[in-house]
Amino acid sequence: MGGEDEDGHRHVMRVRTGPGQVRHVVCDTCGHRRRVRAFAHDRAREHLTTEHGAGGFRKEYSGLPWLLGLAALVVFLVLMAGYRR
Ligand SMILES: [Zn+2]
Repeated sequence: MGGEDEDGHRHVMRVRTGPGQVRHVVCDTCGHRRRVRAFAHDRAREHLTTEHGAGGFRKEYSGLPWLLGLAALVVFLVLMAGYRR
């Protein structure tokens, strides 16, 4: 999980999974450490965005259009499942 701030500095957060599904997100830049149960990547993104102003996540997901297509497909499937009830 990484992102770049407006100055082009790169910030990286790592997700560490310990015993009992305990996860920590650790920030390489400031040493921020946070315990999370779920949505570790969301937490990491939140920290990068709020603390470092880093938002270049699209570089991590070069296939953004593909992701949007996948999201649309998921929505479509959910809607279809709903109609069957
Ligand atoms: Zn940080």
